[in-house]
Amino acid sequence: MVVVVEQNASEKDIEGIIKTLQDFGFDVHRSTGVNQTVLGAIGVKPDFDTRQVEVLPGVARVYRITEPYKLASRTFKQEKTVIKFKNGLEIGGKAIVVMAGPCSVENENQIFTIAKHVAESGAKILRGGAFKPRTSPYAFQGLGEEGLKLMRRAADEFGLLVVTEAMDSTQIGLMEQYADIIQIGARNMQNYNFLKELGKSKKPVMLKRGLSATFEEWLMSAEYILSSGNKQVLLCERGIRTFETATRNTMDISAIPVIHSKSHLPIVADPSHGIGIRDKVIPMARAAVAAGADAIIVEVHHDPDRAKSDGAQSLFPEQFTEMMKQISVIAEAIGRTIA
Ligand code: PEP
Ligand code: MN
Repeated sequence: MVVVVEQNASEKDIEGIIKTLQDFGFDVHRSTGVNQTVLGAIGVKPDFDTRQVEVLPGVARVYRITEPYKLASRTFKQEKTVIKFKNGLEIGGKAIVVMAGPCSVENENQIFTIAKHVAESGAKILRGGAFKPRTSPYAFQGLGEEGLKLMRRAADEFGLLVVTEAMDSTQIGLMEQYADIIQIGARNMQNYNFLKELGKSKKPVMLKRGLSATFEEWLMSAEYILSSGNKQVLLCERGIRTFETATRNTMDISAIPVIHSKSHLPIVADPSHGIGIRDKVIPMARAAVAAGADAIIVEVHHDPDRAKSDGAQSLFPEQFTEMMKQISVIAEAIGRTIA
């Protein structure tokens, strides 16, 4: 941490700052220039609240140098994390993985029809919600365990893995039974007790970015899961809330290269929630692949006009096939492939 002292600070103020830093356990190095004094505070304290120093008399600015997260950072682990599944599929390697399916599992015919189509077009993982975090308590809440069973059967039938959302820790047991990846929704990104419980699971966890979460907050949430023992974490950019109202969310493509430089964890892009408008999903998927996403998750529905949730952002099956063709050209251009 670097503490810049105010130009008119008294010697008494400076000594007070040094004493406080030492009391917090930092080793303090003072450098006195003609007009400015700067203090270097050495010591690894990831949980230190810099405001404790900012409020001291004579302090102009405080800069944190090390990140508050450790296990999630590139400084701690240089090589990228690759998540490996028992069927040989990997996320985080050269090949980009596509996850596709409806927003919600609605019935047997729906999930089997969609699973067949996405598998034939090259998806490797079936998405679909059985427990749905809806803004309205009156909206369809998902089929619960019945939905998980249908999804597992459909995925097994067409050689796919399953990614599905758990909304609280009481559902982790069901996830262990039916899912291959546990999705944590944007609204739960900072549910810290839940994240700690997920840290005890053996299943990979896909942590979606909160609606207005900074990169640091998102990585701190990943840190909760990692530090509780689960090293298989994927981060998913799904759009953030901005001042723009023309789209449902603003898909933050910049998250992809920035997270790659800050963290070794694989990054998944969700252009469906990212923009929320069907005919803009494919361009966002192309952009995400070009920016370096390790996986893409998209909503696909065979009859989106009658979907129980997110029909307006769900691709028609033929659009999904077209998206697969387009992203494979982009993957090749950047030296990658589609798994
Ligand atoms: C979803 O994937 O359908 C979903 C509800 O996602 P999010 O948590 O990103 O809104
Ligand atoms: Mn959805």
